[in-house]
Amino acid sequence: EPQRDVIKENDPQTQTPHPPKRTTSNGDPSLLKSRKALPIWAHQSEIKASLRGDNDLLLIVGETGSGKSTQVPQFLCDEPWCRRKKAQVQSDTVNVGGMIAITQPRRVAATTLAGRVAREMGTPLGASREGSVGYSVRFDHNVPKGTKIKFLTEGMLLQELLRDPNLRQYSAVIVDEIHERSVDVDLIAGFLKQILSGDKVGRGGIPLKVVIMSATADVEKIQTFFAPHNSRSPVRLLQIKGRQYPVEIKHTSKPVTDIQEALLKQIFDIHLHEPLPGDILAFLTGQEEIESAQRLIEEYCETLASDVPKLLVCPLYGQLSIQAQQNAFLPAKKGFIRKVVLATNIAETSVTVPGVRYVIDCGKAKVKQFRSQLGMESLLAKAISKSSAIQRTGRAGREGPGKCYRLYTSATYDSLKEADLPEILRNDVLGAVLTMKARGINDILSFPLMDFPDIESVEKALIHLHFLGALADDGTITEVGRKLALFPISAPYGRVLLAAREPQYDCLLEVIDIIACITSGDNIFHQLQSEEVREEVEEYRKELYRREGDILTYLTTMQRYAAENADRIEWCKKRKVNIRNMKQALNIRKQLRGICLKEKLLTETPPPDPQPFVPMSPERAISLLKCFMKGFGTKCALLAPDSSYVTIQGKHVVAIHPSSVLHGQKREAIMFLEHVFTQRSYVKKVSTIQADWIVEAMEGH
Ligand code: ADP
Repeated sequence: EPQRDVIKENDPQTQTPHPPKRTTSNGDPSLLKSRKALPIWAHQSEIKASLRGDNDLLLIVGETGSGKSTQVPQFLCDEPWCRRKKAQVQSDTVNVGGMIAITQPRRVAATTLAGRVAREMGTPLGASREGSVGYSVRFDHNVPKGTKIKFLTEGMLLQELLRDPNLRQYSAVIVDEIHERSVDVDLIAGFLKQILSGDKVGRGGIPLKVVIMSATADVEKIQTFFAPHNSRSPVRLLQIKGRQYPVEIKHTSKPVTDIQEALLKQIFDIHLHEPLPGDILAFLTGQEEIESAQRLIEEYCETLASDVPKLLVCPLYGQLSIQAQQNAFLPAKKGFIRKVVLATNIAETSVTVPGVRYVIDCGKAKVKQFRSQLGMESLLAKAISKSSAIQRTGRAGREGPGKCYRLYTSATYDSLKEADLPEILRNDVLGAVLTMKARGINDILSFPLMDFPDIESVEKALIHLHFLGALADDGTITEVGRKLALFPISAPYGRVLLAAREPQYDCLLEVIDIIACITSGDNIFHQLQSEEVREEVEEYRKELYRREGDILTYLTTMQRYAAENADRIEWCKKRKVNIRNMKQALNIRKQLRGICLKEKLLTETPPPDPQPFVPMSPERAISLLKCFMKGFGTKCALLAPDSSYVTIQGKHVVAIHPSSVLHGQKREAIMFLEHVFTQRSYVKKVSTIQADWIVEAMEGH
């Protein structure tokens, strides 16, 4: 029985020596005016008051742009309960609290919000000083000493929960964008509910304050979920009325067949005929679509007369580096009159792009969907829900009356479903089950979740985790499983990383390169548009392509790129390799190497670039592919007599995606890392394997 823990609230020694004197009026004075104009500003005292005393939980509902993400952490950070305290946990004296965590579903949101709040508070982002703002996202951490407010992705908070189940460094956790209902946020909600209803022994008796924020008013489910057992007091709810100007909605009269063309036409129609100022925000499905639209728009701009006002194109998607994202949030650069932001659905509620008066909505979004009969997760471009369409429309009316052009008919709009299902009901729950197991929750069914995934997908996840060696026969977590849960990559990739240092494979640096490349974005190779370009580029690409397939082609590309000493931009241009992805890949490689050094998978720091390129031997290639089988041995397909490929799990017919170097080729057996479902069922990131490796991989477990 642990000793009752004592809070030394009044002991001067336990207080921070110099509590930072920061009031919300500090910081950048020019930004203060706009902060005061935010709808949430008037609720400042109410928000503070509602978390003082015994109440530890607050639910805030307010439209996108009402100031939740930027202001609430600043309101709370000077509260007396937010100081770091010394507390007794069992027989140790430990520090508890002092920081505020605020979670975001996407890395773009976490980093841009951190930058914005740092500016508002007048502390440079990442400055090592008391009361500053930091962020932590996958492969990028900026949390110096003295950080008070930390923006982080949901995945990062889950990792912290595994390391410290009581979240001891925090006084408060703010869960933003809960309406998105990602798998991760559902898990976080479950863990926070457990902390809130627990005995606080692990926190030395010091409560954790929790603020849940949503941009949509549909919060009954959340309220019911958090409502304490046998208590009649409901969860405190604060509703903020937002500002919204009228938005004129225009549908197309006929269904659109070529989205790119319709988009281009609409953009220039606005640019040439609608009054200034007013930027354009276009919602597209993903990185590839955004990049090809960007090229088309820029090409078209070249053909315009010199007296036509200049149009600046800013892409905005999750994988983009922070520097590249910034353009979207700044006023159009000098010399440009209007900007058009090409965004994925991250601009729906996650981030606010200032200056927008015109929205173009393609009506689709890429969503992950788990097809449990296939046992695999697919990325699909699917029709959005009405609720998303309304959110997108709303982006045009933030700063004044606006217009929204929907690239679909009003009949299509009427046929959209009201809202999306929570991700946990349609996604692979592999990561979620692993996280729960690693957190010591053996009986998954007992964990509090707002929505419970169907048993079939949980079972699939358990079997898959067992295949990966993450779970023992009795279903408990193994040492391997614990490691996989803490890697910032999904479990199958983590398994490959662990296998890579086994002596029979011994290919860790290569595996890191491949994973870095894959994680850096949609596709490192640009699609080749015309035949003419194709011939020339394919000639250059010859030295990159490997007959074994995509992952070894990535590796060669990465190694040749890193070996390139002269002009890397030119190198990428000639081969139509995505320079943004390559830069990001090098960054991820650095992070992964760092993690492997820390975890002692790597024993020494690899030599710096440029290293001379050494061609890979066929034996080495086999080792690498076999190593990948440790993680993806369940994702294989065999060539059928009719020349189609049939997956070994689910016996499903698939084709090799056109983006693969193996497209159109017939091989005895293939291993694939991804599955997409567009017009047909495609596999991506494909490699040639030998059929007997599949048996080997299955027997190894
Ligand atoms: P909410 O969380 O309610 O959607 P935010 O706190 O994110 O609202 O945004 C409030 C306001 O702060 C926005 O309307 C915008 O004017 C400003 N803002 C937020 N982020 C940025 C940024 N990165 N750059 C410039 N202004 C920003």
